[in-house]
Amino acid sequence: MSSDLHVDGVTKHFGDVRAVDDVSFTVEEGTFVTLLGPSGCGKTTTLRMIAGYETPTTGRVTLGDRDITDEKPYQRPTSMVFQSYALFPHKTVGENVGFGLKMRDVPSEERDRRVAEILELVELPGTEDRAIDELSGGQQQRIALARSLVIEPEVLLLDEPLGALDLKLRKNMQVELKDLQEELGITFVYVTHDQEEALTMSDEIVILNDGRIEQRGTPAEIYESPRTRFVAEFIGDTNLLDGTYVATDSGAYLECGSVEFPVEPNPAAESGATLSVSIRPEKVSLEESAARNGGSTETDITLDGVVDDVIYQGNVAKIHVRIGDSELISERHVVNSTDLPTPGSECRVRWTKEHADVLVE
Ligand code: ATP
Repeated sequence: MSSDLHVDGVTKHFGDVRAVDDVSFTVEEGTFVTLLGPSGCGKTTTLRMIAGYETPTTGRVTLGDRDITDEKPYQRPTSMVFQSYALFPHKTVGENVGFGLKMRDVPSEERDRRVAEILELVELPGTEDRAIDELSGGQQQRIALARSLVIEPEVLLLDEPLGALDLKLRKNMQVELKDLQEELGITFVYVTHDQEEALTMSDEIVILNDGRIEQRGTPAEIYESPRTRFVAEFIGDTNLLDGTYVATDSGAYLECGSVEFPVEPNPAAESGATLSVSIRPEKVSLEESAARNGGSTETDITLDGVVDDVIYQGNVAKIHVRIGDSELISERHVVNSTDLPTPGSECRVRWTKEHADVLVE
């Protein structure tokens, strides 16, 4: 029997605030799923309902065929890691890590053995007798993780666990946590507002906005095929071209001020609608040629423009190009900074039709 986690039609009201609004998703057993979204979108409330610290106003939470909606946190095969770590400052590392086992009446010998094992796993072996306040922030984070893992949960819930660490340590821990999850094979549900962190670690990302699911998918699906303006702007940088979407029998295109170009038809969009098309800057290539031969083909879109600005960022450069009333950014890797175009020069931008996403909202 699989232990997939199902969040099914879950809504949570706090007085007049609808923190979570009819959210449903499944987390396949053994996968790493991230709830991602801006502050206040309902990530923590969703996680706390899976953990049992909040009860849904409506909806159910099940693990395999076990309905855990009304179970107390300690009755569930789940465990939570908090951003604040929530360690007991006056207890030793060993007492902190062994706490959950003691609560579950695990005999002291077995407790000691399991605490030693888990400290090994988080790379702090032999630290049982250390005081919590002697440890660095990164070490405390590992102890918080060890304390949650020692009870062998089926699902580990992590609420911005790396939020208090500096950037370098945070990046190292992202990779370590992902490796640990793969090694242990247990389900991780991870909350963050950091899109880069979500892209780095997750098998799947659920994007929340204002209490609702905006889109879910693998990191590549979310980044490469955003469905809404919110997702396109929240994940990575993008070019948004606004215009009128026109669908005909022979294909679709966007009328965008003085220019128009073909797009992939989107069945969810209505012909004549005002909408946006998203194109990632690295998908836009730039040719510094004034030669004007040929135009857009069925799959390759080309538009003529003028270089407005060149922003050099070391390994990459962002080249701003004016095309009619719109501006597009083309991003490229820099090998020689002397090869970059000069502002004011004529140029041509090019992208493949499938890299332009017609956004429905
Ligand atoms: P953050 O990243 O800032 O932690 P979040 O996405 O985790 O945000 P939640 O903490 O789930 O968001 O909050 C969602 C909404 O519910 C917010 O408007 C918040 O103010 C509200 N909220 C959360 N907990 C409570 C509570 N106990 N009482 C009243 N309102 C609450």
